[in-house]
Amino acid sequence: MGLFIRRWGGNKKLFDYRILHCYTVRRTIGLYGQQLEGEFQMPNGKVIAPGAVIGILGDGQLGKMIAMAAARLGYKVAVLGPIGRESPAGQVAYWAEAWGPNAQVEDEQFERFCSLVAVVLIEWENVPVGLLERIEARGIPVRPSSKVLAVAQDRLLEKKLARELDIGETMLLSIEKGYDLLNGRGDRTQDWPFETILKTRRAGYDGKGQARIPAGGSVGDAWTKLGNVPCILEQVVDFIGEVSVIVARREDGETAIYGPFQNTHRDGILRLTQYPISGGPMYDLRDSIREQGYAAARKLTEYLRVDGLLAVEFFVTKEGYVLFNEMAPRPHNSGHLTIECCDTSQFEQYVRAACNLPLGSTHCHSPGEMLNILGSEANDWLRRVGEDRLAVHLYGKGEAKPGRKMGHTTITAFAPNDE
Ligand code: AMP
Repeated sequence: MGLFIRRWGGNKKLFDYRILHCYTVRRTIGLYGQQLEGEFQMPNGKVIAPGAVIGILGDGQLGKMIAMAAARLGYKVAVLGPIGRESPAGQVAYWAEAWGPNAQVEDEQFERFCSLVAVVLIEWENVPVGLLERIEARGIPVRPSSKVLAVAQDRLLEKKLARELDIGETMLLSIEKGYDLLNGRGDRTQDWPFETILKTRRAGYDGKGQARIPAGGSVGDAWTKLGNVPCILEQVVDFIGEVSVIVARREDGETAIYGPFQNTHRDGILRLTQYPISGGPMYDLRDSIREQGYAAARKLTEYLRVDGLLAVEFFVTKEGYVLFNEMAPRPHNSGHLTIECCDTSQFEQYVRAACNLPLGSTHCHSPGEMLNILGSEANDWLRRVGEDRLAVHLYGKGEAKPGRKMGHTTITAFAPNDE
């Protein structure tokens, strides 16, 4: 309790908080009285009430954390993904099945899933767009929709959209076929005095599907290394930092926004997220970074009419410009600390937006840091669980392969004098 009082700034604040809490409880009971009866209308759109089953496509850790947030609000979750019941999400789901190779869903399985769910959420970006379209054709909303996913799955479409919306980005050219490499400039990048990075248009994640090319190096060699598939070529940005912004948007256009989260990557994999930006070269620019990041993320969310969640990643240049890197229509690794640090987590917010509930406050009540547990670091779980003030999340994955995200920890920083 001592810690709690200090954190809330003394007895007076604690008293205020208790009054607020009583008020919230009364409102919630009132709400349940009406809501559990079934469907009812928000001013703009149909509410999916607690008791309903939420479908999730993909069954990894994001699905697990969505399912846990959904369960707290009284929903059940049905998960369809590559592993099924034994997956991180499957372990906490009401219903879970594994789909076939290449995310193939046979008719019978499709029927079983559709007969259960009132709405479908995405936790894995590479779900086939065709599967989403099939679900939408049944009249079941997929949030965000197949149209949003189609853009987010393709780096070229993403960058083109950013360009169209006047959001700064990093693409130099797109490479479809061998002869594109020439593009009137020759294979080598000798006329560019900077490093470049070739990325596959599709299916890249955590630094996979990328090859760096030194100034003057061969694009052709990098292209062969990536399997001669359609790619985009980007300039390597000499950034002072990486940030992300997460927007939740309801069907009627109401939004709630988080970030910017300050992200540190190692070998293309997110290692550390700090929130809010609390030091380093981005500190003095933090207000401008927030403004630029929010404006860009809102433009994308509005243009795409996202209902659900959209996470957007940016690079911040020395001059203080925020450049679009990529986006994902699902919860984001950098938002995991919202569970401990914010009034409403990104996972709960996704459920709220998708079910047309009022969106929750995104207020950050405790600054914090999230560290991913990668590969064999998971073997250290017992020591971590024993540490004070550290929230340990273990995803329940089997094999601790190098670089595999096995869990994460969040540490919350209390008031500066709280030591
Ligand atoms: P991505 O999968 O595109 O998010 O790339 C993974 C990570 O690689 C990023 O978070 C950056 O740390 C790094 N990276 C990707 N593209 C660039 C770029 N154009 N310039 C500098 N670093 C990059």
